[in-house]
Amino acid sequence: MIIALAGNPNCGKTTLFNQVTGSHRHVGNFPGVTVEQKTGDIVGHKGVSVVDMPGIYSLTSYSSDEIISRDFLLKQKPDAIINIVDATNIERNLYLTMQLIELQIPMVIALNMMDEVQENNGSIDILHLRDALGVTVVPISAKHKQGLAELVEVTMHAALHKTRPQRIDFCSADATHRAIHAITHLIEDHALKYEIPARFAATKLVEGDEKIRKQLNLSKHEEETIEHAVTEMVAHLGTDREAAIVDMRYHFIEETCRASVVKAKESREYRRSVKLDNVLTHKFLAIPVFFGIMFSIFWLTFDVIGSRLSDWMASGMEYIGDWLGAVLEEFGLNPAVHSLVMDGAYEGVSAVLGFLPFIVVLFLFLSLLEDSGYMARVAFVMDKLLRKIGLSGRSIVPMLMGFGCSVPAIMSARTLASERDKKMTVLLTPFMSCGAKVPVYVLFIAAFFAEHQALVMMALYLSGVLLAVLSGLVMSRTVFRGAPVPFVLEMPNYRFPSVKTVLLLLWDRSRDFINRAFTFILVATVIIWFLQYFDVRLNHVENIADSMLAYIGRLLAPFFAPLGLGDWRISTALVTGFSAKEVVVSTLAVLADVGEDSLAGALHAFFTPLSAVSFLIFTLLYTPCVAAVATFKRELGSFKGMMLVILYQTTVAWLAAFCVYRVGWMMGWG
Ligand code: GDP
Ligand code: MG
Repeated sequence: MIIALAGNPNCGKTTLFNQVTGSHRHVGNFPGVTVEQKTGDIVGHKGVSVVDMPGIYSLTSYSSDEIISRDFLLKQKPDAIINIVDATNIERNLYLTMQLIELQIPMVIALNMMDEVQENNGSIDILHLRDALGVTVVPISAKHKQGLAELVEVTMHAALHKTRPQRIDFCSADATHRAIHAITHLIEDHALKYEIPARFAATKLVEGDEKIRKQLNLSKHEEETIEHAVTEMVAHLGTDREAAIVDMRYHFIEETCRASVVKAKESREYRRSVKLDNVLTHKFLAIPVFFGIMFSIFWLTFDVIGSRLSDWMASGMEYIGDWLGAVLEEFGLNPAVHSLVMDGAYEGVSAVLGFLPFIVVLFLFLSLLEDSGYMARVAFVMDKLLRKIGLSGRSIVPMLMGFGCSVPAIMSARTLASERDKKMTVLLTPFMSCGAKVPVYVLFIAAFFAEHQALVMMALYLSGVLLAVLSGLVMSRTVFRGAPVPFVLEMPNYRFPSVKTVLLLLWDRSRDFINRAFTFILVATVIIWFLQYFDVRLNHVENIADSMLAYIGRLLAPFFAPLGLGDWRISTALVTGFSAKEVVVSTLAVLADVGEDSLAGALHAFFTPLSAVSFLIFTLLYTPCVAAVATFKRELGSFKGMMLVILYQTTVAWLAAFCVYRVGWMMGWG
């Protein structure tokens, strides 16, 4: 049995999903976080799975998000839908409900966030709502686990007895009614044949939904009759076809809410949020405040907390390394294997793991910002700026997520309404500095710019943003002409971040990082070790410069030489970095002659401060990792698109690093 969770963004779907399935998915206090369907079994009901769908406002076909959800509901035919409605925002949420009803799938409405409504002396007449909509309504609070048992029970009942929504006609205007009615009759056979609920198909046809029209496979004559009915309706109402349907729905929603909802008084949280927003989203203050906050985070992470933790971590690692080396020596292990374990695997993995404290601290702050509701404000403030450069404001969500990891960020570009906006966002998101780039930054900053850690760090993050902005400007005037689709972003109230949510987020990120260290990075390091230990004829080399790796590296070096990165070890590190950004560090750790010195110290042998900058710029901008590449392919839907993205990013990275290096060189900083 399959139960689908459907609802607007940020209405609590994932929270409910986690509660009923006992899982720990990412709950975000900002829309666009869940873009993939995830499935889990209801605790205590084996064989009953719940699907957490992305948040949508409507079942139109404007964004791939909506199309995915719609196709899921139409094709997979879940046994029941739980439609989650945010009770504090009931009017807007019911808009989706009205469309779900048309699907005629057994359905239950979970009226969520009732805790907030009650706290602020609001109330909702559940029975009236039920009768008006013809769907059972269960008040719940997903966060506080209230009403969940009843919800599960009612849903199971509806699914088993196939209790479909009782009402389907919500028209008030005659003209709309006539049009929908006539079209429903006309297409009934087609709808049955292609398994699309007739009423749903009819309203979509009135709205002018191309996808449904194609799916129904109508005859020429039928299409003309439909257009005729619509033209008549439009002439009668004096609005356009889409507005006719929107009006119909909102008219009904207004009536129903007037009779059943006592509006909660403005909550304390709301008033507090308004006050905070006066400053945080202020016309002039917003951006300086944002930079202030970001700078404090970088400063705290890299100068104050992270560096100390990292020192401890490094001495711990060194201790373990010495011990392990001694044990292996005692054991009399073959020198080649010993070198593989110590100089290869251990050196590489521990070099990357040493940066874990930075990642943890940075993400701790970022998840605090996200869960408090501030990220949604950042999106709001940036929206205006983004629109000026021809990007949809909606792109800000993927871009902000890009500071965590490009993979989910690129996927969340699905929520964008137009192909143009989506493609641009997919192209630009990887310019954000993801968590995997942090180790590279930290290593080089410690080696060359130790006095200004936070500043350089912030400059790197900003350069990524700047490049994305510039690219956006150029693209929207060349390949991607056209206007971005406007979007609505809601502001959740500011809240005290929940410890559980923040810890879960943090755990997710850290686990991911550790996983990568022991799988991907371990394998990559071993390969690198192998290539630098043997020459082309598989003889052990005394001097690393004679190895297979050096041979490959030298082939590639001319490509990087104009950037001041002509040393074969550097080009090798950059090329292996295509697999994952942390691998840049682990490769350097294997290749650099560390000896008694630290890795940071050893870097001075083949970098100057200027070439270090050039290196950082290149690392910041080129293709993030194979996982991201796979995501490009999936989201753009073509191999060609994927190759173009890689080419684009590498070119931009090369040019930017080239400019920086050449300018620096002319200024005599080399
Ligand atoms: P989704 O976008 O629909 O998956 O929504 P999430 O599950 O990510 O939740 C959005 C926000 O609403 C989170 O910050 C939750 O903590 C919060 N939330 C969810 N359910 C409730 C509830 O019953 N009461 C209150 N007050 N907040 C809730
Ligand atoms: Mg969610």
